[in-house]
Amino acid sequence: MPENDYDLFVIGGGSGGVRASRMAALAGKRVAIAEEYQFGGTCVIRGCIPKKLFVYASQYGEDFQDAAGFGWSVPERRFDWTTLVANKDKEIARLSDLYVQNVRKAGAEIFLERAELIGPHTLRLTKSGKTVSAQYILIATGGRPSHDTLDIPGVEHCISSNDAFYLEKLPRRIIVVGGGYIAVEFAHIFHGLGCDTTLVYRGDKVLRGFDEDMRDCIMEEMARNGLRVICNRNFKRIDKRGDELFAFTDHNEIIETDAVMLAIGRRPNTDGLGIEGAGVALGPKGEVVVNEYSRTTVQHIYAIGDVTNRLQLTPVAIHEAMCFIRTVFDNKPTPVDHRLVPTAVFCRPEIATVGLTETKALQAGHAVDVYSSTFKPLKHTLSGRETRSRFKLVVDSQTGKVLGCHVFSFDAAELVQLAAVALKMGATKDQFDGTIGLHPTAAEELVTMRTKAYSKSPAAPLA
Ligand code: FAD
Ligand code: NDP
Repeated sequence: MPENDYDLFVIGGGSGGVRASRMAALAGKRVAIAEEYQFGGTCVIRGCIPKKLFVYASQYGEDFQDAAGFGWSVPERRFDWTTLVANKDKEIARLSDLYVQNVRKAGAEIFLERAELIGPHTLRLTKSGKTVSAQYILIATGGRPSHDTLDIPGVEHCISSNDAFYLEKLPRRIIVVGGGYIAVEFAHIFHGLGCDTTLVYRGDKVLRGFDEDMRDCIMEEMARNGLRVICNRNFKRIDKRGDELFAFTDHNEIIETDAVMLAIGRRPNTDGLGIEGAGVALGPKGEVVVNEYSRTTVQHIYAIGDVTNRLQLTPVAIHEAMCFIRTVFDNKPTPVDHRLVPTAVFCRPEIATVGLTETKALQAGHAVDVYSSTFKPLKHTLSGRETRSRFKLVVDSQTGKVLGCHVFSFDAAELVQLAAVALKMGATKDQFDGTIGLHPTAAEELVTMRTKAYSKSPAAPLA
């Protein structure tokens, strides 16, 4: 008679939790998984997927304009928000059902309710009141917007990305606060759908941590496209008068608007989970502290994905789930590998990147050769749009190894996914150059940048 009800209990049915529960169940383990809201988690319900559908929706306006240069005349354009939200909801429900079916098919037991730890091996299911035990516990509870932590009067009038997916009507005017992935992507979505959009950021250039050239490109492009960006500002108060909001900046400006969306980061879902009582240590942001195998401070409790606040990306949560399965159930200890994770910001054009930025390469002690190219995409020779694409390779001067690939271009995310394979294999600039281009594409730029733009050495350490 087994000592515990399950070999593995997973808390959270998002990207990481679903992958881990399926893999463990397929390996013949007795698995249960609890999800308190909807299977699919942030990515499927309130993140990557609905966001990308909104991104597609927001791009038709420009595409219709561009079509004129190719001889098309487009009759009056009209956009219906309600149709978009309804169609998105239908697709999200389909995907969420698919997640449930796949978990069931794999043989895991599903609890559609919240789970909390009440002991090192014991959990309580809060709706049914049931108590269960498991040999291993995996915390995969993700994160949530930290908008409500902003300590200003009127913060309750603001919305988060969660709310943006379900707005009853599209606001005529909107302020998006923040300069990270979500702020930049949603500012583009709202702008593309025709809202009078203002992006307000506390720093001087959005997308901190991305390559400086890419940051410059998106700042220029937003200005060119009439997406208003106000930098070096914080809000100190938001007033609501009737249906209107009045946002007061710390420079004594007042911006009138219909909605304010805060995109100022996310925090881990660990409140009330009972994990500290079980001996699991939390970090300063409430994140579960884990080692390279995703093991917490308790031997048999692991945590993966956003709740660990390492890299908040879906494929990373899935990778961490796979490493957890190998380590715990396949007897092959596998540390997670956070190097060379490709990532993209789905603005227009997209920014996609893999490897080191020029700054990070120098900080890591590499002398670098930089190859870069800026050009007008072929399509826009006829559309008349002034957009420029930029490609950049950061190369180690000594070994010739490509350390970083940064692209600002249409479909940049699609092409950087493949460049990531080359970088993962340790490709050198010579090998990029030895690859024959595929013509006519923007991507061929990656294998035809022959002339070094400049070289840089790491700064000498201060005496
Ligand atoms: P989640 O997917 O958040 O899953 C956690 C689940 O746990 C949730 O379903 C939650 O309801 C459940 N839960 C929480 N507590 C409990 C409990 N006590 N009991 C039961 N269930 C519980 N990443 C990308 O790679 N590309 C993108 O384009 C991208 N776009 C994004 C856009 C937005 C707007 C956002 C917010 C995020 C985006 N991300 C993107 C990030 C990505 O969605 C997350 O990194 C990923 O979903 C994390 O997966 P996870 O399994 O750690 O957590
Ligand atoms: P980010 O960490 O990317 O950005 C947060 C932004 O909010 C930063 O610009 C930060 O400024 C600013 N900020 C933080 N605190 C405050 C404050 N108190 N007042 C004003 N501004 C503030 O978080 P996001 O919320 O945009 O996204 C969360 C994560 O989700 C991302 O890091 C990413 O991992 C994931 N994601 C991935 C996407 C993708 O892959 N395409 C898309 C969306 C999300 P500063 O830079 O000065 O610190």
